[in-house]
Amino acid sequence: MPATQFVCPKTNGNIKIGDCLQHCMAGQRCMFLPTLRSVAASLDRKLDKPSVTELISGTRETFLKKTTDYAVDPMQQLYAIHGSAVHTLNENHTDGNMLSEERLADNITSGKFDLYGEIVDINDKTLGDYKITSSFKLMKALGYYKVDVPTGEVYKTGLKKGQPKTRKEWRDDGVKHVLEWAIQLNYYRILLEQCGFKVGNMVIQAMCRDYSLRIAAERNIKKPVYLIPINRISDRWVKLYMSTKAKKLKEAMDKKFLPQLCNARERWHDRKCAEYCDVAGSCPYGRLVKRNREVAA
Ligand code: SF4
Ligand code: SF4
Repeated sequence: MPATQFVCPKTNGNIKIGDCLQHCMAGQRCMFLPTLRSVAASLDRKLDKPSVTELISGTRETFLKKTTDYAVDPMQQLYAIHGSAVHTLNENHTDGNMLSEERLADNITSGKFDLYGEIVDINDKTLGDYKITSSFKLMKALGYYKVDVPTGEVYKTGLKKGQPKTRKEWRDDGVKHVLEWAIQLNYYRILLEQCGFKVGNMVIQAMCRDYSLRIAAERNIKKPVYLIPINRISDRWVKLYMSTKAKKLKEAMDKKFLPQLCNARERWHDRKCAEYCDVAGSCPYGRLVKRNREVAA
């Protein structure tokens, strides 16, 4: 079941998406009607089998999105349509050496890759994916971290007298937190290769949505766009991972039981449950996290 209602940002009440598009109950719309229609269209996904992105999310989250009637705040969905807009812009500039936006499927799942072909270098066979993301996620994906480096001076007074002075320096050889992106791209690679298209390399083009803010500079994000190479993961591992998740989802759908909790990575160590999961209201754990946050506030 896709989202059927909007949480109206003006009244905080829920309204059926169709009713909202017909008539604004708040008197004046929160955004242009075509933008709202675009948000509504982006929510209306009818796929007979779960997609690659649905399987990468927590099984409980995907189950609840497929089985419950839920409401989303249209303001929170705008980043999703920014992503679609970027796809459309690029789509009009591809050429005969590129493929874009093709949906491929196998017996486990289906997925639509963004770009394939000569997109980075002539004669390459690159599989590319666009992401619009935050400076925080980008910093993590690029493996940036700070270290203390001695300046060669010592404190001359105070509690630290005699101790060496340090300054912070950035390093870029940390762990690159791109597992979900890597699984997604590797699955698209497998689907392409099953159709006879050789994939030479995989690259994410990540656009930073808060690039102009000071917080981005504080995270060492200095450009609006980064190309992030993605390593190959063995076909066997990726297929096993995805088929296990597909099996768990199917079992829960068939027997109509709530799957076990999304794991800590899938629920962003509870941040998603507290603020970003559209179905948190239908999830006992999501309700608990939200309640605890309210009590703590
Ligand atoms: S257009 Fe916006 S403000 Fe009006 S009812 Fe719909 S969600 Fe609420
Ligand atoms: S609230 Fe948290 S645990 Fe529940 S479905 Fe959403 S992400 Fe998963």
